[in-house]
Amino acid sequence: MAVRYQSTRGSEADAVGFVEALQKGLAPDGGLYVPVAVPGLPEGWEQSESFQDLAQRVLGNWLEGAFDDDARAHAVRDALDFDVPVVPLEGPWEGVHVLELFHGPTLSFKDFGARTMGRLLAASLEDGEEVTIMVATSGDTGSAVADGFGGIPGVRVVLLYPDGQVSPTQERQLIVERQGVTALRVDGTFDDCQRMVKGAFADPALADVTLSSANSINIGRLLPQSLYYLWASLQVASPARFCVPSGNLGNLTAAVLAQLGGLRVSGFVAAHNANRFFPDYLEGEDADFEPSIQTLSNAMDVGAPSNFERLEWLLGRDRLQAHIQGMSISDDETMDSMARVYNQTGYVADPHTAVGLEAVRRLRYDWDTSEPIIVASTAHPAKFPESVSRAIGRNAEVPERLAAFWERPTSVREIPASGEALRDVILE
Ligand SMILES: *Cc1c(COP(=O)(O)O)cnc(C)c1O
Repeated sequence: MAVRYQSTRGSEADAVGFVEALQKGLAPDGGLYVPVAVPGLPEGWEQSESFQDLAQRVLGNWLEGAFDDDARAHAVRDALDFDVPVVPLEGPWEGVHVLELFHGPTLSFKDFGARTMGRLLAASLEDGEEVTIMVATSGDTGSAVADGFGGIPGVRVVLLYPDGQVSPTQERQLIVERQGVTALRVDGTFDDCQRMVKGAFADPALADVTLSSANSINIGRLLPQSLYYLWASLQVASPARFCVPSGNLGNLTAAVLAQLGGLRVSGFVAAHNANRFFPDYLEGEDADFEPSIQTLSNAMDVGAPSNFERLEWLLGRDRLQAHIQGMSISDDETMDSMARVYNQTGYVADPHTAVGLEAVRRLRYDWDTSEPIIVASTAHPAKFPESVSRAIGRNAEVPERLAAFWERPTSVREIPASGEALRDVILE
């Protein structure tokens, strides 16, 4: 049975199919698309021989009826063509595993969702149809989306990022010239960028342009992300506890979707930096969205997580509080975490992963010691050379595919943090 998607603010009666949810991104009432019913895991999924095999089986259930089988299989195979290793740590970290999600072309987990979504979107367009994908990024989303969508016929990408708030390496990955991609350096914060994107959807002057968003509000990005929780669970002996370094809460929502589909887990940890709305909410405080605070783990600098609405819809406050532990880690603690893990195990973690590892170090004494712990490693440490070398006294090895970005021509435009400025670019 084809899975249908309704708005978090609407009703089942207005549910749409996957292709419509994918193309629209945001529901017309401003809500986020959520599956009316989460499909169960396909029979025999535990026998998957590779991540790619698992992806084909599980997405087959999610996407049934939305594409023809060959087109879907081809898109998934082409998108998810890199490794997904689970690395056990040693010494005092025994029992903790790092799920390395940075082996794609732009070295963060965003490649899973962006590459799959780009190819499925391309498969869903009619001949001659055009769509403009907008994406606000605080670091890794933009490059993954630009890479995953750039050069796809009928797809134009407009990406916005806050001036001075992404690392030089991240910025380089954003602004290399790509066919069909316009990079905008915005004089404002990430929240400004996100607000501008939301504003464009509601802008009557843009009514004739087919707009879509590739932020983690798009359900097309979340589904492929849920696959690696399933894959990782097959690499350990019993139901694991997953720790997810979080910002917009897309990755955690993907983990929850895997659980709702039937994955057995011991629990989840939402590891945040100083942007602590969600940990406070989980503690039962009357937390409110806040302006974002700049930190070393900048891809998690989100004061108003866009997937919070989806998580609340999926689980409700009581179950969220029962199943998910929250933790907020400061920049100093992040630096200490990188150093400690390196000194104790030799493992080089990037600042985002270090937030997750530190959350685990603080919480794990309350957990059953036989439970495997899996920390999602969301980015490669070589993307953050300044922090890594300061923390551990050496640089992470730079993979070839990262070094290659510095040899390519760049193209970027500067605009103020206003909806009018964005509108002008879109209408060009
Ligand atoms: C995007 C990102 C995160 C946060 O993921 P969410 O899905 O927004 O919670 C964490 N780490 C890195 C490296 C990222 O790029």
